Amino acid sequence: MLINENLFKINSQNSFLAATEVVKNYKASNPGNKVISLSIGDVSFPVASHIAKKMIEAVNNEANENYVGYGNQIGIPALIKAIQQNEYPSFSLDEIYVSDGTKSDAGNLLELFDQDALIGIYEITYPIYENSVKSLGRKFEYIPVDNNFLPTIPKNHFDVIYLCSPNNPTGINYDYKTLKKIIDYANRERCVIICDNVYFKFIENGVKSIYEVEGARSCAIEMRSFSKHASFTGIRCSYYVIPNELHNGINAVWKSRTINRFNGASYIAQIGALASFDAEATVEIEENLKYYKNNAKYLATKFKDLGYKVYGSNDAPYLWISCKNNKKSWDLFLEFLQKIEVVIVPGIIFGESGNDYFRVSALGKYEDVVEAMRRIEEYEKK
Ligand code: PLP
Repeated sequence: MLINENLFKINSQNSFLAATEVVKNYKASNPGNKVISLSIGDVSFPVASHIAKKMIEAVNNEANENYVGYGNQIGIPALIKAIQQNEYPSFSLDEIYVSDGTKSDAGNLLELFDQDALIGIYEITYPIYENSVKSLGRKFEYIPVDNNFLPTIPKNHFDVIYLCSPNNPTGINYDYKTLKKIIDYANRERCVIICDNVYFKFIENGVKSIYEVEGARSCAIEMRSFSKHASFTGIRCSYYVIPNELHNGINAVWKSRTINRFNGASYIAQIGALASFDAEATVEIEENLKYYKNNAKYLATKFKDLGYKVYGSNDAPYLWISCKNNKKSWDLFLEFLQKIEVVIVPGIIFGESGNDYFRVSALGKYEDVVEAMRRIEEYEKK
């Protein structure tokens, strides 16, 4: 076959997959040992019971003659309306799209842009953007982050920039001033920012959506997901906003493209997503968020007590921590795994310049977080 050679450009070394493989092999060679993961990007709680109940009703609905079939490629109208009313009241319904996950949306949205568009990717970021861009054979360049992991303003022209705020892996939510500078750049350069905002529910203070910043409507697409706050990592449902201001007629063509290329997120998932806006569900969702935040605070305090420099943790379920004693991230990952059976994420997975750091997640169970920190503390005292 005449294969797409770009597929071979996807990073396989220093990837999540490679790290997962190492952990899997370690567990297989040490059966019965309790390996604790501080690395998980998955959630620890099931969906709220109210959401599950609504999804069961949806399943039953699909088993009778009034079942819902094809036709909701953009999203079921009730869900689009709920998203608009709850989160994007100043946007029209035809600027909002429901989809099956931000991971796929991040790559699929590239279809909006000319093949020659130059895409900017920050040096330390969620690796999916780079791998999507590479596998699609698109042109890209890295953009540096500053010493505090904030995005710098590019010196050259870009047509598209991926931005992730609150950020994976650093856990930092960009403030108004930082966002305004990028937005001003984008408007000046006629560049579009694809803003990944999946952790927005974790934000305590500060900007919750890029559209709170003046000028964003004419240069930014925002993506959100039900995965993290509503425990939809397995159920799959996401959404994004394409403002009409980005280009004349953009939503008419994107709607037509989407209907031709996608048959919509699962009806059952969409009914669940709709139920996540009900008061019965939000109580449980808020409790889960509080739990994760408590984990994050505990982890931040403990790592700081051990002399680590810690970034993030307040506005996202992640802590970005600098390795001590000039250790490199993959070595530390192996050391913690082999010596104390604690799994961290080596920073190099998020870019070469992340090699002096590692990521820790607060999405695990509290007792595991406590035990992992006990092991690290004891190990470092030796
Ligand atoms: N965007 C970021 C920044 C993430 O960290 C993740 C998952 O870890 C995703 C997107 C994936 O979202 P989804 O489950 O909606 O595909």
